[in-house]
Amino acid sequence: MGVRCALFGHPVAHSRSPRIYQTFSEQTGQALDFDLVDCTAESFPATLAAFAATPGARGANITLPLKLDAYALCSARSARAEAAGAVNLVRFEGHNWILGDNTDGAGLVRDLHDNLGISITGQRVLVLGAGGAARGILGPIADCGPAALVIANRDSAKADLLAARFSARGIRSAPLARPGSAFDLVINATSASLDNKVPEVAPSALSLDTVAYDLAYSDDGQTAFTRWAAAQGSASVHDGWGMLVEQAAESFEAWFGLRPDTAQARDRPQQ
Ligand code: NDP
Repeated sequence: MGVRCALFGHPVAHSRSPRIYQTFSEQTGQALDFDLVDCTAESFPATLAAFAATPGARGANITLPLKLDAYALCSARSARAEAAGAVNLVRFEGHNWILGDNTDGAGLVRDLHDNLGISITGQRVLVLGAGGAARGILGPIADCGPAALVIANRDSAKADLLAARFSARGIRSAPLARPGSAFDLVINATSASLDNKVPEVAPSALSLDTVAYDLAYSDDGQTAFTRWAAAQGSASVHDGWGMLVEQAAESFEAWFGLRPDTAQARDRPQQ
């Protein structure tokens, strides 16, 4: 019987996860059927339970807007999922036991450090957004020892709540219109690029030395945010393709006990 895993969220049709898992599957010789399941918060609990009961079902990735719902559904969670209060990876352990983890931060840090050679240590970092992805990346970024870590969100109350959750890690919130100036690294963890929009952050947050990173990704590496940051003169701009691949590698390891090499999967689809 083959192993089955799936991505749950809305929207999911654009996801490149199936292609990445196919590469890992071919590389390691582990057969995997990977489904895309588009569902709402209302239908998610029953849909996930039905999938978990399918023969061969081993786990799932959870994307927006369901990461907080997934957290609530899990029977047990890793320390990093507990810290985030959000789950993007589950493993089915039998007897309706669902183990939750959060690999967004590990995926981002690995892409920044190992693939792009960008250091976080001692840098001034601004994170835009306060949704499920922001929750997952704040702890791992803080672990790298930035000089400052500021979070700003359209709904400022959500940024304040998240900063309070991570206050022991020295994270503070600021308004989008006045986040501070000339950050070394600005990370867009909003979903604005999915609507071809850019969060209304003060352009003074960026300088000619700023690295801009969008968690959203596209086949040509360009998003509304990376285009905007490049137009502001940012030193370098990156989309979240490498992060997607790295967090998928973490998931594959959780499901199969094997860590795939990510170099081949990081090649973008042919244009
Ligand atoms: P959520 O739905 O949980 O949160 C969305 C966030 O985006 C909120 O903070 C929301 O602000 C903000 N937002 C949405 N539209 C706008 C806008 N027009 N202007 C300003 N802010 C906006 O989504 P996630 O946190 O799960 O995902 C965020 C992004 O990260 C998505 O693009 C997702 O695809 C990407 N992602 C990429 C990964 C990767 O591996 N590359 C992994 C995880 C996520 P408000 O609270 O005010 O509504």
